[in-house]
Parts: sequence; structure tokens; C-alpha cells
Amino acid sequence: MKIGIIGAMKEEITPLLALFPRATTHQVGGNTFYEINYKNAQIFIAYSKIGKVHSAITTTTMILYFHCEKIIFSGVAGGLGENLKIGDLLLATQLCQHDVDITAFGHPVGFIPESTIYTQTDATLNHIAKTIAQKKGIPLKEGVIASGDTFVHNAEKKQWLIQNFNAKAVEMEGASLGVVCSLFKVPFCVFRSISDNADGEANISFDEFLERAAEVSGNFVKEMIDEIIQTEQNQ
Ligand code: SAH
Repeated sequence: MKIGIIGAMKEEITPLLALFPRATTHQVGGNTFYEINYKNAQIFIAYSKIGKVHSAITTTTMILYFHCEKIIFSGVAGGLGENLKIGDLLLATQLCQHDVDITAFGHPVGFIPESTIYTQTDATLNHIAKTIAQKKGIPLKEGVIASGDTFVHNAEKKQWLIQNFNAKAVEMEGASLGVVCSLFKVPFCVFRSISDNADGEANISFDEFLERAAEVSGNFVKEMIDEIIQTEQNQ
């Protein structure tokens, strides 16, 4: 079993690397991939760098070069819903690209011909996540995550994301990772811990809470890996 774990920034994979045994490293396409033998699985961990292009490249490398059979994203995001607080953990049900706009041709915002507005995350992985959360008493929220190549830090844009996509959080990598996984038929899920509220204070909040939020997401992803390996063994 080969599993890929991706973060966007170094800070997002640092807590994860600390939870696993020593890794060997590979350099591919401008990224460092950490390979870890853990129980009877091979885990690959990398940060992509910020944005949809980078996450698409790293995800493609995980699948085509390292032959990962499942992909998990671990990182932080801006919370949009009133009930999402700093440090809360969110599981993506669907992801969309909020900055795709060819509405000039009559298409809905976020839509690309021969594609869909929303990409679905994997039902089995999501089920595992919810089971862990329940068993361990970890509050895990779920909802749509909107991705775009912009750090959102204003109230108007927040409302626009909620109204147009029913989004619960905003970030810059999840949807492109989702498109790659869907096209290559690789099951994936996305965890994001809330680092800010995508408002006027978002940059300050982000800097303050990045490390703690990344740790929340990383800890949960480690639980996911253990459960996936256990489930495989029982089959
Ligand atoms: N401080 C960094 C830039 C961070 S960009 C620097 O100076 O280099 C924000 C990162 O966290 C992205 O990877 C994105 O996925 C996520 N993120 C957190 N809050 C966000 C928000 N409000 N809007 C968009 N992305 C957000």
C-alpha cells in the first residue's frame, strides 16, 4: 500500500514528518518527497508550494512517479462559516475552483467544459475519517472547500464564496489536487484546520495560528494512516 500525503507549505508537513520514523528523500520536479516505511505501508510526504498549479504537479508526481494509491491533503484554510473557529478541523465533502470564470460564454462560475464545478472526495476515506473522529471524540466538521490562487482576506469575497459555492472554507490547493486524483481515479480526501477567518485580519491570524492549526490537521492525518493500514490488514 502506497499512500501520498501532501501539504502546501513546509509548516504543514513538519508536524507529520515528526510523527513518522526517519525518511529517505527524493527530488522530483522541484519538490522534496519524503519516503517512509511505516508498518506494512510506504508513505510519501511532500509540500507542493502554494497554489493550484503546484498542488496539481505534486499530486501528479505522487500518482504517476511514486504510484500512490491514495492521496491525503493536510493543511490550513480560511474559515467562512460562522460556526468555524480557529483550530477547527474540516473534512472536504466537495471542492471547487472559485477563480475559474468563463461566465462570458454563459457558463456558471467555476465551470470548465468537459469538467464539473465540484469534485467529490472519496466516500470510503471520508467514512474512515468520521469513524476516527467519533471514536476519539475529535470534533470534525465537513463541507465544501473552495480553492483559488488568492489569499482571501475580505468580508465581501467571503460572502461571495458562501453564496456561489456554499463553501465552508477557502484555500489555494485542494480543488486542483482533487481534479488530478479524480482524473487518475485515485481516492483522495482533504483535511484543513482553520488558521483564520478570511477577513480583514486574516493575514495576522494566519501567521499566528499556522503552526498550531497545521498540527491539528497533521495529528488527524496520522490517525487516518493508522486506520487505513489496519483496515487493509483486516481484509
Ligand atoms: N504566509 C505565506 C502565504 C500564505 S498563503 C507567505 O508569506 O509565504 C495561505 C496558505 O494557507 C495557502 O496555502 C492556502 O491554502 C491556505 N490558506 C489559509 N487561509 C487562507 C485564506 N484566507 N485564503 C486562501 N488561502 C488560505
